[in-house]
Amino acid sequence: MPEVIIVGGGMVGLSLSLMLAKAKINVKLLEAIKYPTEHDQKLLEYHSRFDARNSALSRRSISIYQQLGLWTVLQQYATPILEVQITEQGSFGHATLRAQEEQVESFGQVIENAWLGRVLLKEVRQSEYIELIDGVEVTALTQNESSVCVTAVRAEQAMPFEAPLVIAADGRDSKCRQLLGVSASHHDYEQVALVTTVQTSKPHQQVGFERFSPLGPLALLPLPGDYRRSVVWPVKKGEQEQWLGEVNDDHFLAALQHAYGDRAGRFEKTAPRFCYPLSQVLADKQAIGRVVLMGNAAHTLHPVAGQGFNLCLRDADVLVRYLTTHLKNHEDIGTPSLLQAYEKARRKDQQRVIKFCDSVVKGFSNNHPVLKLARNVGLLAFDRIPGVKPLVANYAMGLKV
Ligand SMILES: Cc1cc2nc3c(=O)[nH]c(=O)nc-3n(C[C@H](O)[C@H](O)[C@H](O)COP(=O)(O)OP(=O)(O)OC[C@H]3O[C@@H](n4cnc5c(N)ncnc54)[C@H](O)[C@@H]3O)c2cc1C
Repeated sequence: MPEVIIVGGGMVGLSLSLMLAKAKINVKLLEAIKYPTEHDQKLLEYHSRFDARNSALSRRSISIYQQLGLWTVLQQYATPILEVQITEQGSFGHATLRAQEEQVESFGQVIENAWLGRVLLKEVRQSEYIELIDGVEVTALTQNESSVCVTAVRAEQAMPFEAPLVIAADGRDSKCRQLLGVSASHHDYEQVALVTTVQTSKPHQQVGFERFSPLGPLALLPLPGDYRRSVVWPVKKGEQEQWLGEVNDDHFLAALQHAYGDRAGRFEKTAPRFCYPLSQVLADKQAIGRVVLMGNAAHTLHPVAGQGFNLCLRDADVLVRYLTTHLKNHEDIGTPSLLQAYEKARRKDQQRVIKFCDSVVKGFSNNHPVLKLARNVGLLAFDRIPGVKPLVANYAMGLKV
């Protein structure tokens, strides 16, 4: 069987390796960070890659993990979203999406990244098809008609690798993208996402909130444990310091209380806040000869609608289908025309999601009275016009693709 090299063992690289392994395709996974070993499993909870964030997984993403046989383990630290309430602070508009009304079990599940990463890494380590080479940084990449050569460096020692196909899942600032000379459009939202876990006095009852406040769109999602909720709150760049550190816990809880009123009851406790600068980065090309850009290396989005990772998983799923079909016909899996066909096939879904996330951020970040009114009317209409809600619900669940 041919071998595929994946550069980057973040959540996308790890998931993709397992999808390829399931199709019995050999993978060499090159990751810059030295991951903790089996014996250090506890350390993974605090690992910089599988951090304090939580991911809202769409139903399609869940079905991908089900097919990999991982969902039973993953769901131990996941919570279903049965209802989503969308409101704007100081305004009359609101919208509610209920899973029951849309005749689905849930809109998806919120999972702790620390747990997801831990499960994926353990599975990767156990797979006979995957060789994880961590603690190595890819510094060079060249390709010819039949293969791609990658150089990875560990402690100043260069290691050469070669394969008919390389998948670059090396994140927003992708080194591979630069080495390939692929340009990318960058848009800085001038925002930083504050991410943390809070405890409220009212149980969450599997309800998620998206609240548009003057400080930014604030997401409050249910977590395992009836009173724990995940917070993602984008604030203006440069203004994050006032919310960080234990000394500002009360200040932060008071701000959440002010933004939410008593919908969630009292905001009683908060974990430390972590910061993520927010930008949109879109590669101009994703299939370059025998190399494909994947995950954040291909498209990094604003997390406002929790779509980024879900989109990456759909890309990975489609790519694996293309590769397996090609392999059945005993054809070369790095064929540039095959990779271009994959890129073309993914364009529509990617563009819809990119546009959706960007317009939600921009549409709700403006306090002009006319726009505010339009938003209110929009939210009300969204709540009342038949057919609109199921459409958006299906879309958010990743089913309509
Ligand atoms: C605050 C926040 C909340 C989010 N919430 C959601 C959500 O609810 N739902 C959702 O769908 N999405 C969400 N996302 C988006 C999601 O986090 C990303 O889509 C996902 O993390 C992308 O993963 P990745 O593996 O592509 O990139 P990364 O996590 O950046 O991983 C890249 C990997 O490549 C490695 N690497 C880099 N350079 C090299 C090199 N030269 N050699 C070798 N290895 C290298 C890095 O060490 C890293 O491990 C959120 C994002 C943010 C910021």
